[in-house]
Amino acid sequence: MRLLVLDLDGTLWNHEDASQLVPPYKAEGNKVIDAYERELELFEGVREFLEWAEKKFVLSIASWNMEEVVKPILEILDIWKYFKFPKIEYHPNKASMIKRTVEQLRNIGYEIDEIIYIDDRTLHVEEVKREIPKIKFIHMWVDVKSFEELKRVLEGL
Ligand SMILES: [Mg+2]
Repeated sequence: MRLLVLDLDGTLWNHEDASQLVPPYKAEGNKVIDAYERELELFEGVREFLEWAEKKFVLSIASWNMEEVVKPILEILDIWKYFKFPKIEYHPNKASMIKRTVEQLRNIGYEIDEIIYIDDRTLHVEEVKREIPKIKFIHMWVDVKSFEELKRVLEGL
């Protein structure tokens, strides 16, 4: 199986720090509105991408955020269901998050033979590559400009 690990802020949605939002949330289509009427919106094509990708990959998350604030956003958008052992943790060590997800998947019988990591920032990439040398990194909005293009690139891998 191939594992696809996604970042959240600036990758799946347009908010740069979803931990600043305050529940309770309302959802309007691809948009979430917090208790202070602040908005977060999924980027175009995210839902279609996840629907397609879950048939080809094991999907997970590595996000530097507060889980108690951000998990309800994924739930109200009805996309939490796509992810296995998602990590939303308040520290920047994405290598640790990804390694633990791989370990948990292996423990329940998944053979993970390829890991692809998608992030809008390169901040964590050197460390992730040092700790998980064979990981493939796709720089969102730089290597690919849309979720439609991401799908095409993944189909070609
Ligand atoms: Mg990000």
